Amino acid sequence: MPTPEISRRINDRIEELYERHLREGDDAVSYYESGRGYYGPELAAEERNRFAICLVSTDGEAYCVGDHETPFALQSISKVFAYGLALADHGRDHVLKHVGVEPSGEAFNSIVFDERNNRPYNPMLNAGALVASYLVRGADPVEKVERLLEILRGYAGNESLQVDYDTFEAEMSAADHNRATTYLMRSQGMVSGDVEEILAMYLKQCSVQVTCRDLAVMAATLANGCVNPITGERELPRRHVRDLLSVMHTCGMYDAAGQWVFDVGVPAKSGVSGGILAVIPGKMGIGVFSPGLDSHGNSVRGVRVCEEISERLGLHMFATEAEDAMIGAAPPG
Ligand code: GLU
Repeated sequence: MPTPEISRRINDRIEELYERHLREGDDAVSYYESGRGYYGPELAAEERNRFAICLVSTDGEAYCVGDHETPFALQSISKVFAYGLALADHGRDHVLKHVGVEPSGEAFNSIVFDERNNRPYNPMLNAGALVASYLVRGADPVEKVERLLEILRGYAGNESLQVDYDTFEAEMSAADHNRATTYLMRSQGMVSGDVEEILAMYLKQCSVQVTCRDLAVMAATLANGCVNPITGERELPRRHVRDLLSVMHTCGMYDAAGQWVFDVGVPAKSGVSGGILAVIPGKMGIGVFSPGLDSHGNSVRGVRVCEEISERLGLHMFATEAEDAMIGAAPPG
């Protein structure tokens, strides 16, 4: 537990970080403008200016600034949790037969496959995420979605997480690309059954609404070996935690995953609604939300904030020194 003095210092640092990045503005192109979008109108300026940062430590202390109670759709960030559930349901060997762990270097929705192994490259790409959702166990589609919702609620420590059906309908009506991907995968024996059902499962998980605080608690749960630091509940068998974080580390940030590892160096996942969930194993989870996206589909402010936090706290997995610790003196060395 940090002392009140340390908590105050952390709060001050986050406030300062938030104010500065808010003022610096956002020269992002929105997802839609970037030419990679396929649904929804361009976000209104007010929406694009939303911005929140939350840190949650592995002992459950939360520090939040900005619009941290504003809900947004999880989108691609849900891929992490569906993959985790598939691992828990089937074990790593079975899941590996169906979806690989290789970065593809391609855009998130590209229709490319690991042809040698007849599987999508990784579960953070749409094709691989569709397969992971397809693998989630359940007697019927309702039970599958319910199981996934339960696990998301567990990671967030928030029983009220729900699918937002307006988002889901919008996604479903503009899902031809994902639909085509799923049909193609079915024709090649990567999935079987009803394509619309697989698609609906995947798009429901993308449409679950979270706040930035939820995101940071989910990240802290991952950082805490998948035991939620607030509820104390385990959300994933220990043996799969490493699998999940490894895939996030190499494939979590769309086709900028390499640049992210180079600059920030922690496992993370982003989504096109502007969220980034970053995990500092054993230490804390970071959630950032700001909808202006760069041309890869990553939140512009989110990337900058994570770069700065990583730099100042020396969080990069290969860092040997911290430039300026956010809570006081830099560590020795
Ligand atoms: N609903 C989106 C899709 O599958 C998720 C996009 C994302 O966040 O990358 O295409």
